[in-house]
Amino acid sequence: MGGTFDPVHYGHLIIAETARVEFNLDRVLWIPAGDPPHKPGRVRTPQEHRHAMVLLATAAHPQFEVSRIELERSGPSFTFDTVTALRERHPSAELFFLTGADAILEILTWHRHADVIHLCRFIAATRPGHDLGRLGTVLPARYLQCIDTIATPGVDISSTQIRERVRSQASIRYLLPDSVETYIQKHRLYADTGESPAAPGG
Ligand code: ATP
Ligand code: MG
Repeated sequence: MGGTFDPVHYGHLIIAETARVEFNLDRVLWIPAGDPPHKPGRVRTPQEHRHAMVLLATAAHPQFEVSRIELERSGPSFTFDTVTALRERHPSAELFFLTGADAILEILTWHRHADVIHLCRFIAATRPGHDLGRLGTVLPARYLQCIDTIATPGVDISSTQIRERVRSQASIRYLLPDSVETYIQKHRLYADTGESPAAPGG
């Protein structure tokens, strides 16, 4: 499960848990993106904050784990490199890459997408406002063969919306775990002071 997680919210948690149950996964590896290539210059929140929030959000789930694989690598975070590295680390594992509808519909823009699609299976989750039914018209058949879809209890929550709500001092309660909300307040994330927030501990 890759993402910017800026910040992590219940939309992410719901699709991860739904995929875990439906595919009987041993574990879900949460992979905060280092420097997402499709969001150049847009991710201002230091990766250590995004990583810390995912740790908080997933801590209580025994089958959720957080990976630093994209944080340890410099340069853009390409899914191709991440899945290739995971394959090497876990040669006998059956790997699935979990995305929401919006992300999978953009797979043709991904670096080395023709290779990525054969590296693992893909699970695409429904997301309000994005029509998974379009997959069949957007992607060639050989891509569709590698993608399973799951219906999730849709929640129309996005990190963008949460950042905007914090900026305008609207409530974000019940959109993400309390622990993450407390973290955002403590570190004054998304308050839009014009400066990037300091890294944790700083
Ligand atoms: P942003 O608004 O900053 O893009 P986001 O809410 O889309 O944030 P990401 O970190 O970009 O969150 O998404 C990580 C993954 O989770 C993507 O595959 C995305 O499709 C999926 N996802 C995010 N929010 C939802 C949601 N509410 N329902 C289903 N899938 C979601
Ligand atoms: Mg997104």
